[in-house]
Amino acid sequence: MSHNHDKKFVYADNAATTSVHPRVLAEMLPLMGEVCGNPSSLHQKGREAKTYIDTARERIASVLGCDAKEIYFTGCGSESDNWAIKGAVQNYLERNKTDKCHIITSKIEHHAVMHTCKALEKKGIDVTYVGVDENAMINPDDVVAAMREDTALVAIMMANNEVGTIEPIKEITKRVKEKNPKVVVFTDAVQAVGHIPVNAHDLGVDMLAFSGHKFRAPKGVGGLYIKSGVVCKSLIEGGGQERGKRGGTENMPGIVGMGKALQLASEEMQDDNARLCVLRDDLITKLLALPNARLTGHPTKRLPGTASFTFEYIEGESLLLMLDMMGICASTGSACSSKSLEPSHVLLAMGLPHEIAHGSLRLTLSHETTQADVDYIVECVTKVVNRLREISPLGRN
Ligand SMILES: *Cc1c(COP(=O)(O)O)cnc(C)c1O
Repeated sequence: MSHNHDKKFVYADNAATTSVHPRVLAEMLPLMGEVCGNPSSLHQKGREAKTYIDTARERIASVLGCDAKEIYFTGCGSESDNWAIKGAVQNYLERNKTDKCHIITSKIEHHAVMHTCKALEKKGIDVTYVGVDENAMINPDDVVAAMREDTALVAIMMANNEVGTIEPIKEITKRVKEKNPKVVVFTDAVQAVGHIPVNAHDLGVDMLAFSGHKFRAPKGVGGLYIKSGVVCKSLIEGGGQERGKRGGTENMPGIVGMGKALQLASEEMQDDNARLCVLRDDLITKLLALPNARLTGHPTKRLPGTASFTFEYIEGESLLLMLDMMGICASTGSACSSKSLEPSHVLLAMGLPHEIAHGSLRLTLSHETTQADVDYIVECVTKVVNRLREISPLGRN
């Protein structure tokens, strides 16, 4: 992300959102001007708009290894998560003429999944939250063991947004389907799509969510893969858009941007990731040299751009604010809610004690990150950690 300060600036929060690729922007601009038709209109302007959407759908399907008719556009990753979960549950309830069923999810899901499951729990749906090991890895055995006669859905994320661990979705899906092929398997792949290879058919999942702004498309556009034959009830009723499954006039420029962004991400993935892994591992090695620092997430099965840590005796929010003053944009798991600091549910699920989970830092790199940026991050984090420990009431140093 560009900036106009003389001061050094490093954007290391790419898991929160990414900058729009210049070639994506270039494709989108005419669509916010002269190309003005509604894709549902039958006249020439409508047909023109529809052609753009069809192309975007085909581009996305080709990267995700599925058919274009299996891709549905939404307003964001959160909508895709809500839709998949509520739509699968609703279908189960209607099909079985019941008002009760069971969902299996994990303790480390994004809030869009977790809060959707909590909301369904309030309506009488049973939910099992499967735990993780110290690296945030989910054991397929635990998922299978949680299955019941009335399990409608398994919803497990593909890559964790806080610590970067990549989950064994293919194995989980295979095992779940072996035990009961009727159970719908959904994966929130919002952190994975555009960053690591994701092939929907190969994974075997029934539904898979993604979001444009996590891979250099603009904010406010997402998608859901729904395998043909799988029934997912609509969340948004309206006109016949998205083959009757998602009402609302399409965000045409956003959809086109997302199609282009995914195509570019897929073309650039191999080179980008080779470079990113070197930078990420250098950052990890250097920050782990600090006393009482630890890596969070799996040491190797992790997203190429994600480096995440805890620093004992330190409070994540202070760390973040001091780094911000030095021009570094980062993220922490703990969010200051009123007076109490709530540590991240992900770090707690990994078994970290509250006081350690409070001192978390997530640095997520991108194609723009350089070795000089990594060196600057190391220099600043070292300074800030030492300074905070000197003044910390928790600290010893
Ligand atoms: C960002 C994110 C979401 C939400 O996507 P939005 O498009 O911001 O709504 C869901 N799941 C994961 C894992 C994410 O990282």
